[in-house]
Amino acid sequence: MDCIFCKIVEGSIPSTKVFENDRIVAFNDIQPAAPVHVLIIPKKHIPTMNDVTEEDDALMAEIFAAGRQIAKELGVDESGYRLVNNCNPDSGQLVYHLHIHLLGGKPLGPLIG
Ligand code: C5P
Repeated sequence: MDCIFCKIVEGSIPSTKVFENDRIVAFNDIQPAAPVHVLIIPKKHIPTMNDVTEEDDALMAEIFAAGRQIAKELGVDESGYRLVNNCNPDSGQLVYHLHIHLLGGKPLGPLIG
């Protein structure tokens, strides 16, 4: 499968990983939009949020738990951070392997400007 994030999971494309277990991996975004910009992804290929099923409930909970933990480790838990998912073209989704953006380290401004 020609998926860039599956290749990051396999290790055939390099990334700076900040967290990994058997089910998920988190790595620094190559084009950071904030001082802290980490992508948290399932190792399993799920194209979009629309493809998440009840079978993935525990996996999704684990992804958000990792987001909370990484935010704390990177020191943005108190100042504040955002966990964001883009789903399908109108959101600007570029990579069709589910990912949650963890953004922080500066005032992020209103979500809707
Ligand atoms: O949510 P969206 O699909 O638009 O975001 C994809 C993100 O993946 C971008 O922020 C991009 O910089 C990041 N990316 C990355 N490493 C790659 C390819 C894309 O961090 N090799």
